[in-house]
Amino acid sequence: MPAIEYRHPREESAASRWSRLNPIATPEDYIESLKGRDVHVFMFGEKIAEPVDHPIIRPSINALARTYQLAIEDPELATAHSDLIDAPVNRFLHMVTSPQDLVMKNRMQRRMGQLTGTCFQRCAGLDCLSVLHSITYDIDQKHGTSYHQRYLDFLKLAQRNNIILAAGMTDPKGDRSKRPSEQADPDLFMHVTKRTAEGVYVTGAKAHMTGGLNSHWICVMPTMNLGPDDKEYAVVGMVPGDAHGLTYIYGRQSCDTRALETGDIDKGNARYGGQEVLVVFDNVFIPHEHVLMDGEYAFAQEMVARFTAYHRASYVCKTGLGDVLVGAAAAVAEFNGADGASHIKDKLVEMTHLNETIYSSGIASSHEAKQLPSGIFMNDAMLANVCKQNVTRFPYEISRLAQDIAGGLMVTLPSEADFNHELTGPILEKYLKGRSNLPVEFRQRILRLIENMTLGRNAVGYLTESMHGAGSPQAQRIQILRGMEVERKKALAEDLAGINRKEEAL
Ligand code: SF4
Ligand code: FE
Repeated sequence: MPAIEYRHPREESAASRWSRLNPIATPEDYIESLKGRDVHVFMFGEKIAEPVDHPIIRPSINALARTYQLAIEDPELATAHSDLIDAPVNRFLHMVTSPQDLVMKNRMQRRMGQLTGTCFQRCAGLDCLSVLHSITYDIDQKHGTSYHQRYLDFLKLAQRNNIILAAGMTDPKGDRSKRPSEQADPDLFMHVTKRTAEGVYVTGAKAHMTGGLNSHWICVMPTMNLGPDDKEYAVVGMVPGDAHGLTYIYGRQSCDTRALETGDIDKGNARYGGQEVLVVFDNVFIPHEHVLMDGEYAFAQEMVARFTAYHRASYVCKTGLGDVLVGAAAAVAEFNGADGASHIKDKLVEMTHLNETIYSSGIASSHEAKQLPSGIFMNDAMLANVCKQNVTRFPYEISRLAQDIAGGLMVTLPSEADFNHELTGPILEKYLKGRSNLPVEFRQRILRLIENMTLGRNAVGYLTESMHGAGSPQAQRIQILRGMEVERKKALAEDLAGINRKEEAL
């Protein structure tokens, strides 16, 4: 590997620095690429000097690093050929050229969920890039702008360097009854504060940003439909993760401080975790070459709709976590000596049925993808919304069943330190024994994993993110309402029932 020079003199702009980044090939390259960045990060009331080395943050970096490892281990699954740079690229940066490409993306997402048991944070950035392929093209067709070429130039840079892109979608939104331009504080939606000959400056914040701190670039885009008065809010741009004016405030997660403890058992999943951050933009400069929309407010609604079509199908990621939880429930049943019971088998069947139902809606949405004028394919929106609606519910039931099978010990189990104590250790070994031929530590570990995924740190990704990520449940129901063609279905029923409204009207 060539020496990687990521450290930088501060006078060089972050954008040009990242433009000459050496390509990231391995997980180690990726972790190295995040070191030494002059980022402004706060957690637990303190500024974090080097996030990469922080024990709470590192598992989230490991999860993203796993995407690079998968590309090496299984290139058929996790890489694809890019016609743009005529080279293989990580599938998380690939612009799909067929429905099959989207199917492969879903398979990769499920595999990544199986390998990490958490949110691996790389999909929303891909889904942003996918949307912008068609939206920049459509804006150019209508307004004669040159956004699509800028987009393609950025995509080349992203693919060549194999970067991570975070999606800066969700504005804080303030008073939900008011539009962006009506808010008492204009910063509650990201907006342009200044324009110069070189570019634009933006101020605002992006909330719940998955993997925001672990990314090399952030794509900011509107979160909702916009009207003529919201023109200054209709901005899309690519911002380096260490640009001047950015502040990251780390979102805490249930049981996150277990990462500070010694020992790895009580962490449940010591290697991998998700990450959500609030990212504040204080007059952050975006040069024209990285501005992909500026004022074309009428495209905001369609942009959000297309994003959700891609991203709600991306939530098949949770079926990989579901696979882990089915496996954990089956393992704990075995360790308890209960695996032969018919009700245990039936619960595992129910968990699997729910998990595969999620997968079937997501993968069907990809199979039914259609081509857009720019040439890219987009998921079927109805099926993507059904997939995400399933995700807002089924992981909760799968978790309930996993907890049912695990038993109460999952939440009454003493700490790893008690197992290591000279006095209490032998007592726990004696009384918490399950099957006599298996070590007690197996029970400890698998119970902690179920706790981690259903109550602890990765319940953020498996449960609450399943509820609210890519839009809360009601957002999907609105889309389903829009697409359900009830009049056409009434006509079908009335035809079979022999109802002729025209004759009746006469
Ligand atoms: Fe990807 Fe799933 Fe995480 Fe979204 S929630 S970034 S789709 S792993
Ligand atoms: Fe998400």
